[in-house]
Amino acid sequence: MAHLAVEILGSGGAVRTPRPGCTCDLCANARQIGIPWARTGPSIFVHGPNVLIDTPEDSCYQVDRANLPNIAAGLYSHWHPDHTSGRRMWETRNADFRHWPPHSTNTPIYIAPNVWRDFEQMGIAEAFRYKEARGYVTVHVSDAPLDLGGWRITAHALAETYVNAFLLEELDGSRRVLIAMDELFGWTPPAALCGVDLAVLPKGLFDVHPFSGQRLIPIEHPILRSEATWEQTLAMVDRLAPARTVFMHIEEPESFTPDDYGQLAAQLRTKRGWDVTFAYDTLVIEL
Ligand SMILES: [Zn+2]
Ligand SMILES: [Zn+2]
Repeated sequence: MAHLAVEILGSGGAVRTPRPGCTCDLCANARQIGIPWARTGPSIFVHGPNVLIDTPEDSCYQVDRANLPNIAAGLYSHWHPDHTSGRRMWETRNADFRHWPPHSTNTPIYIAPNVWRDFEQMGIAEAFRYKEARGYVTVHVSDAPLDLGGWRITAHALAETYVNAFLLEELDGSRRVLIAMDELFGWTPPAALCGVDLAVLPKGLFDVHPFSGQRLIPIEHPILRSEATWEQTLAMVDRLAPARTVFMHIEEPESFTPDDYGQLAAQLRTKRGWDVTFAYDTLVIEL
C-alpha cells in the first residue's frame, strides 16, 4: 500500500486568524493560545506524493513550521490571492543565496490550463516566469494526470470552472482522496468522485447559524450568489459519501471557536453518522 498522509498546513480561509489589528475574542485567543485558535491561510501538503497545494500569504512560515524535507511538486487550485500570494516561498526556500555559482533547488509546479489562464490575466504568471528564469521552479502547464509516490493526481474543474479540485488515486490499490481547496459554489459532485476514502473540503459560509438556525447573512447579500453555504456543502458531502470528511477554509469573521467546531462535528456524527473533523493548523490525517 502506498503511504499517504494529508497535512493541513493552513486551515484558515481568505481571512487568517488572528487578523492583523483585530481585537475580537477569537483573535485575542489565537494570539495568546495559538493552535487550534490560530489559523493560517489555506494550504495542504500531501505526504506520499509529497505535493504542496497552494501558497497563501503564510506559506513560508507554514512550510518551515511543517519541516517539509522534500517537496516533489507544487500544485495550484485557482488564482485567488488567499491561495497564491505567498508564492515567493518558492524563491525564499529554493534559491541558493550563499554560493556562486548557486546550487538552487528547482521544484516543478504543475498548473492546469484553466488556472494558468487566470495566472496570465492577473499578473501571477510573470512572478512564476521570474522564478523559472532563475531556476527556482519549472512551470508545467498541464492537466495530464501526475504520478508521484505511488499516487495518481488528477485535476477536476468545479462548477466554478476556473477552480480545480484534486483527486488522488492509489496506483497499486483502490484508495482515493479528494481535495477541494475552495469555491464549491453550484457544484454537484460527479459520480466519478463519489465514495472516496477521504474528502477535504472548504466548509462554506454559515448563512444561517448551524445551532440556532438564526439567519446570519441577509438573503439578498451578493456573497450568497458566489459562495457555497454550509448547508449546500453538507448536501455535497451527502452526495459524495466519503468515508471521512475534513472541513477547512475556516474564516475569522465568522468568529466560531474551536469548541463550536468540536460540537458541530459531534452533532454530525450523531445525526448523520459521518466521520467528520474540522481542520486546525498542523492536523495530519493518515489514510
Ligand atoms: Zn480561498
Ligand atoms: Zn478578530
